[in-house]
Amino acid sequence: MQAKIPQTTRAKAELLENGAIFVTNVKDLPFLADHSTAGPSTGLNCIFLRFGDGRLVRLRLAETQQETPYTYDVERKMIQRKGRDWYPAKQVESLLHCPEQVFLNLDSTCIYHCKFCATPVIQSHVTHRILKPKVVTRTIKRVADKGLSGIALTTGVFSSPTESVKHMCLVVKAIRKEFGDALPIGVEPFANEEKHVDMLYAAGADEIKINVESYDPEIFAIVCNEFDYKNNLKMIRYAGKVFGENRACSNIIIGLGEKEETINKGAEALADWGVIASLRSLNLNPLIKSSLQEALNNRASRPSAERLILHATKHKEILEKRGLNVTKFRTMCLKCTGCDIVPQRDL
Ligand code: SF4
Ligand code: SF4
Repeated sequence: MQAKIPQTTRAKAELLENGAIFVTNVKDLPFLADHSTAGPSTGLNCIFLRFGDGRLVRLRLAETQQETPYTYDVERKMIQRKGRDWYPAKQVESLLHCPEQVFLNLDSTCIYHCKFCATPVIQSHVTHRILKPKVVTRTIKRVADKGLSGIALTTGVFSSPTESVKHMCLVVKAIRKEFGDALPIGVEPFANEEKHVDMLYAAGADEIKINVESYDPEIFAIVCNEFDYKNNLKMIRYAGKVFGENRACSNIIIGLGEKEETINKGAEALADWGVIASLRSLNLNPLIKSSLQEALNNRASRPSAERLILHATKHKEILEKRGLNVTKFRTMCLKCTGCDIVPQRDL
């Protein structure tokens, strides 16, 4: 099994293990670095590199050479490892957060405090802004002719889950009105009632992501202590039922101190509901690192390349056994692939 892993997939896993790259001459990069207000790299500057036979990886820009063994030589378009040429690579333009997609965070504030998430931490440094439907459609128009293939929407919870979902529905409807069915729309809400899933489906969303975060109930109770573990899984299962197979997905974080078998069990349970997991490396974002370690008794660690490959390989088996297909996703992370080893795309 291991012998069949493409060399470039191993290289991608190694890059993800470290998560950062030092760029020799940042100002000469062809495209600006991406600065996110949501997702694993909240508050950090990142670039996308494509190398080998189509592998795409998103990496944080290291501030010093000492932080990482990887360097991107902009002039020679070359990834170097420990000072030696490793893979030729091209920077890929991020339209808005990621290549080919407009992935927008509708609200950069959140009333919750998930321990692995930097959104509540950066909100004290940013002006509260809710992206109104008109602003979103105008933003999409600006990049529509740059190879745009889909729209993805996420949001913090600014007052209540229902209010956030209502706002997301208004945005989905506005996009549909403006662009018809030309662009698939993926949504990543916080949902704690079935009506939230129904509302988004009725508004016209094509794909949905509701995150497991940790499939280990004890870890979930620590890192998402404001949420109910069972109810969260119920929402994901319901989303799989409403949106259908290959249209619902969910992050399971690797690196919170869970057992290997827990991750596989989580991916299996989801697949039984027609939902595809994104097995996501924990990002020990400097904004939350010490508080997360304190909450988890220092169990948090970014997963090794070997762990990423093992889980992606097992996940591929799980998906194939249940006839699920990652390549059908048209939006969000399973389409982008920059942060994970994605089965059926990377191996
Ligand atoms: S619900 Fe949790 S993960 Fe989502 S933005 Fe709020 S704090 Fe972060
Ligand atoms: S994989 Fe997901 S979180 Fe990572 S850059 Fe792509 S869309 Fe963003």
